[in-house]
Amino acid sequence: MHSQNEIRPRKLVIRNIGLMLSGDLANPILEADTIVAVDGVISAVGPAKEVDCEGADVRIDAHGCALAPGLIDSHVHPVFGDWTPRQSQIGWIDSAMNGGVTTMISAGEVHLPGRPRDIVGLKALAVTAQRAFAAARFGGVKVIAGAPVLEEGLVESDFADLANSGVTLLGEIGLGSVKTGPRAAEMVRWARKYGIQSTIHTGGPSTPGSHYIDKDVVLEADPDIIGHINGGHTALPIEQIRCLCEGCRRGLEIVHNGNERAALYAARTAGEMRQLDRIILGTDSPAGSGVQPTGILRMIALLSSMGDIPAETAFCFATGNTARMRGLDCGLIEVGRRADFVLLDRAAHSSGSDLLDSVGKGDLPGIGMVIIDGVVRCQRSRNTPPAERLPELVSSIAMRAA
Ligand SMILES: [Zn+2]
Repeated sequence: MHSQNEIRPRKLVIRNIGLMLSGDLANPILEADTIVAVDGVISAVGPAKEVDCEGADVRIDAHGCALAPGLIDSHVHPVFGDWTPRQSQIGWIDSAMNGGVTTMISAGEVHLPGRPRDIVGLKALAVTAQRAFAAARFGGVKVIAGAPVLEEGLVESDFADLANSGVTLLGEIGLGSVKTGPRAAEMVRWARKYGIQSTIHTGGPSTPGSHYIDKDVVLEADPDIIGHINGGHTALPIEQIRCLCEGCRRGLEIVHNGNERAALYAARTAGEMRQLDRIILGTDSPAGSGVQPTGILRMIALLSSMGDIPAETAFCFATGNTARMRGLDCGLIEVGRRADFVLLDRAAHSSGSDLLDSVGKGDLPGIGMVIIDGVVRCQRSRNTPPAERLPELVSSIAMRAA
């Protein structure tokens, strides 16, 4: 949990970074070995000799490990706390943090037993979920929640109410009673008018009560994000996936809880169109397929190894692309962004020659440390294979309580 009296360093310095992944598709690898954060925000990045490393409260020697922006899971279904009724599991958010995830975005709190479907109730749930996850952080992970599922009966003023109450997202369209193109399009327009981002469930139904959403509904609804374009689980035919890529410029979300062939097809199509900036990654967990603490890393390894996408590019799908599309202040290694980092290295005994080569050969990397808002949240991950090299917390002096 995120407690009020946790120890927060004022200045954090990480040195001897062997590979700096930026999260930026246009320039995915930075020429830098040192990063400095002050009060949880990146203040300098560069070669050690060009960066002011004095006066650090916390020093980390990366020992040659790579550093990437914290991973962003663009599609989760939280309920309350670090508990999911979907698989009766506790601690799933903390477990994902051990898989490198530092930010999660709710696609709807749909697994709440007895989820209200009336308008007053669904609005109240969205506001409650937004407040609860903003106030309590598990493993330090930032969960952006409060994503109402669209039901028939919503009117424009409801979207204004939600926006005024702090709601910034819609749950996946198609999980509630709104399921046709014209009805969804009207509500997407209302949401957009009040600054609420929209996403849609694409493909076959996921659970009893959810709906089949084909390309015509998606294109007519015109949501900001084409949620799980590779299905969750059941994918559209690949001809329809091509239509979605070519028929709009919206975000193309690929999830772990989906069809892997369709995932590779969507990524390849976006690559052919030179629109890899549209790809973002999610897990869709907790789901029928379970909780996937390393799901985002697995998607990066899948797309890189089977989709012939350079590993440094695949990391951008789960970091900078998502941050830009979702308007987040993290996800990129640049001054002014939140200090959310994953330190990682080639897994021990991988056949790959280094981190990027190992991911390109389909192996998961080993995580040695996760940092959120400049605070070390875990050291050696309990969920990834052991990394060949590990970063070291060298000194942690003059800590102060926040
Ligand atoms: Zn879905």
